Amino acid sequence: MNYEKLADLLFPDIKRTPADYEGLFPERKLNSGARVTRLGPSPTGFIHLGNLYGAFVDERLAHQSGGTFYLRIEDTDDKRKVEGAVDVIISSLKFFGVSFDEGAGLVEDTGDYGPYYQSSRGEIYQTYVKKMVKNGQAYPCFMKESEIADIRAKQEAGKLTPGIYGSFAKHRDLTFEEIESRINAGEEFVVRLKSSGTENSGRTFTVCDAIRGELTMPENFQDTVILKSNGIPTYHFAHVVDDHLMRTTHVVRGEEWLPSLPIHVELFNALGLELPVYCHTAQLMKIDDETGVKRKLSKRKDPELSLDYYREKGYHPAAVREYLLTVLNSNFEEWRIANPEADIDEFEFTTEKMSNSGALFDINKLNDVSKDVLLRIPASELADFMIDWANEFRPELTALINCDKDFLASVLDIGRSGAKPRKDLMYAEQILEFIKFYFDEWFEYEDALPENVPAEDYADIIASYLETYNHADSQEDWFSKVRDMGSAKGYAAKPKDFKKNPDQYKGHVGHVSTVIRIALTGRSNSPDIWEIQQILGKEKVIERMKKFAEANK
Ligand code: GLU
Repeated sequence: MNYEKLADLLFPDIKRTPADYEGLFPERKLNSGARVTRLGPSPTGFIHLGNLYGAFVDERLAHQSGGTFYLRIEDTDDKRKVEGAVDVIISSLKFFGVSFDEGAGLVEDTGDYGPYYQSSRGEIYQTYVKKMVKNGQAYPCFMKESEIADIRAKQEAGKLTPGIYGSFAKHRDLTFEEIESRINAGEEFVVRLKSSGTENSGRTFTVCDAIRGELTMPENFQDTVILKSNGIPTYHFAHVVDDHLMRTTHVVRGEEWLPSLPIHVELFNALGLELPVYCHTAQLMKIDDETGVKRKLSKRKDPELSLDYYREKGYHPAAVREYLLTVLNSNFEEWRIANPEADIDEFEFTTEKMSNSGALFDINKLNDVSKDVLLRIPASELADFMIDWANEFRPELTALINCDKDFLASVLDIGRSGAKPRKDLMYAEQILEFIKFYFDEWFEYEDALPENVPAEDYADIIASYLETYNHADSQEDWFSKVRDMGSAKGYAAKPKDFKKNPDQYKGHVGHVSTVIRIALTGRSNSPDIWEIQQILGKEKVIERMKKFAEANK
């Protein structure tokens, strides 16, 4: 077979050679040790936690080493394309603090290694396929779907390995004349790799995965499709050509690609190209709420797989980042304890500390991490964050959107200083619930009054409270007035006195202050009453007390 002639027959319009592209996309001029990583999402419109998880690894590897992180859109599958999906990818990742240095952009692409949409790279792929045909490493295959289905059925019946290989690769050795006449007859063809492997040869190869360490796998023996009949490459071929030409040093991708690694290694070798460093990340897992069994996060069952979920609930991006690092690197939490105030980017992320057996995702843990992270964010920034969140996701919350920002900041800041700060805040939706009572629009009596206090005392306690109420009182003075007032009405000044002699008292000062707390906040649990009063202001305090007394006459 004259492969040169065959290559020209299959690709008459391809005039360039791989060497031309090697010249167009030379090695990047980066410092030694700098890593080039990429995210290669398909534009399906759905961006999930797994994407962010992977993107975070890419971003850290590149930016920690002074390298480049770029975005390549893997849009070779027309059926999955969704309008506006690229904007969603870029803006969602940006929201969580992941930005690209290069690649597909919102307005235009940037960088010297494009095009960054695979759909615009047809000629490049075909140039490399043409070279493989020329070298006798690839061949056209005209088999119809039905023929392939027959082969599959036979293989299933005979319990053979499925696929097109060995004697099943029927068009491997077609003559030039046969190929030419089929093409002249308008027959469609795909191009397959002419694998140099054989099943059960016992030959293996070894790669060093940056997360999993040394991996030894059997060689590929499948004549995998590299170019589809429409001239578009398969994932396998596009990955090899793109990651080579875009000079990716580290390929971070999900472990679902591990089984295809033998194909990729054979393709890199066939083209004489250097392998990138592979980093196969573990699947995101969760403990199923119902069964208690660990399982993969699923798009259908788990709303928390979507990144939109976190934005809509109002998780602060810093909290999500911090949480992802706790999942990504086993030594992160230890580092955080030793460096409570440090910027997260000071943590040295490494692939070696990544789990390879399934990264466990736990929303309760995220909430806990979030409590700590929010504590480090100044209240005025949190106030901005809350207002932005409401503007975007809950525009009906006009009371929050239009409120005085300083007021909101003091509401959010309550109890956050001191040696034992309160950790009440997790995410915007929950924070809103937590602070709602400050706003008249949402104020309501949510909790029951304490059982120890007889109903006829409710209004009476509040009336006495108002009589001596002085907004300028210090916290200590305020409390001693409450205590004295309670004592005068038969409530122990200290809970322990009441415990010792329950028959001597109606209740204790805590019960009295709970009545005041409910009058003020509608709740039996809240941050410090005195502090809340200082934020609400004298008029509002008096108004709420009167309203309560009226309702409990
Ligand atoms: N387009 C592939 C995917 O969405 C990218 C895999 C890779 O990063 O190589 O799974």
